[in-house]
Amino acid sequence: MNVHLRFLGAVGTVTGSKYLVEFDGHSLMVDCGLFQGYKQLRLRNRDPLPILPNRLEAVILTHAHLDHTGYLPVLTKEGFRGKVWSTPATRDLAQILLPDSGHLQEEDAAFANRHGFSKHSPALPLYTEQDARDSLKYFRTAHMGEPFEPIRGWRATFIHAGHILGASSLLLEVGGRRILFSGDLGRDDDFLMNPPDRPPAADAVVVESTYGDREHPEEDLLAELGPALQRVAARGGTAVVPVFAVGRAQALLHAIALLKDNGILPQGLPVYLDSPMAIQSTGLFSRHLGEHRLDAQACHAMESVARMTASVEDSKAIARQHGPKVVLAASGMATGGRVLHHLVQYLGHHRNMVVLTGYQSPGTRGATLSSGAPHVRIHGQDIPVRAEIVQLSSASAHADASQLMDWLRAIPAAPRRVFVTHGDMAASDALRQQIERQLRWQALVPEHGSTWAV
Ligand SMILES: [Zn+2]
Repeated sequence: MNVHLRFLGAVGTVTGSKYLVEFDGHSLMVDCGLFQGYKQLRLRNRDPLPILPNRLEAVILTHAHLDHTGYLPVLTKEGFRGKVWSTPATRDLAQILLPDSGHLQEEDAAFANRHGFSKHSPALPLYTEQDARDSLKYFRTAHMGEPFEPIRGWRATFIHAGHILGASSLLLEVGGRRILFSGDLGRDDDFLMNPPDRPPAADAVVVESTYGDREHPEEDLLAELGPALQRVAARGGTAVVPVFAVGRAQALLHAIALLKDNGILPQGLPVYLDSPMAIQSTGLFSRHLGEHRLDAQACHAMESVARMTASVEDSKAIARQHGPKVVLAASGMATGGRVLHHLVQYLGHHRNMVVLTGYQSPGTRGATLSSGAPHVRIHGQDIPVRAEIVQLSSASAHADASQLMDWLRAIPAAPRRVFVTHGDMAASDALRQQIERQLRWQALVPEHGSTWAV
């Protein structure tokens, strides 16, 4: 009897992670992610799965990002009643991210209906905020390194993967086979997160390849951020920092706390964290000490360096504060969220600054700003860009190609096969070639929907 592995997402793309594992009439899914980005990919979220959700016995989540968890509410809405396994921090983050995702799905559907451009009338959300809340009750947690039994006779173990709070790789042992899923791997030199743990031996390895064809530049967040914020503070301007609510928002807060502590930034420089999701995620760092590089004192410094503006009234009040200040707000690529109001407010004056904190996807406002465009369109208006634009190069939460290879090289014995996933085609294929050339292991990029005996 063979163990079968089926690729239902994250091949040729970084989104929609879903791997079906089947053995002896039983099955579970590793990750349950949303397809995001291009419309062609997003439409896949509406395709039926090749297995009825009520036949699936368990789901195991490697981490909380929506491209790994955001399909879960669809699964529970359509009849899945098994357990959803994750680390405690992943569960805590999913409680923040999934309801917000449902809320956004509802807003998108309402927008499509208002503008009449949906083929379906009325357009229906993929799932609602309530569907997402309903899906949370299936969660069960297991700590890193503590084996659990998702199906009788199957053994699963989470392994630290760095990346974001709670992120794990997964070793699944079933039918005499060991399958290792990398999940999303963090960097050895991450500013917040610990490096990934050494991976165990396995027969088959499923490895991510987001940066399979790229190396990160050598850089230092403090050295990039310090002089920029000093400049804007000296001229009495406002720095608007679009941030991702989980991960980068906390890295920026930690950096600002250190810069104030070192005397590089004035202690009195007002800093605002204007994102309810980022505020909630920040609070999780002190709840999960030991999963990241910060001790209790550094967590406290990170939490107290900014004024947290959860309510809309507090958010609006920021604009009435004169003098230099730093405003962190979501979303990270300025595609939506409160940061848009701050951009409208501050982009038009030379005194101000926009600090872009990570990769800016083509087509986003962040990419427009990063390219030096003289205008950017927000809420149907062309806003002139006179503020200084600073692009940080030090903000990726993913291992680069060398770090992915180092992680693979640390596997104690050659696996029989490596499946390269979670990357665009060029990145996945570049990593596949490196694995074959340097390690002489059999590696392949599977087809979407293909099934393999492992
Ligand atoms: Zn991720």
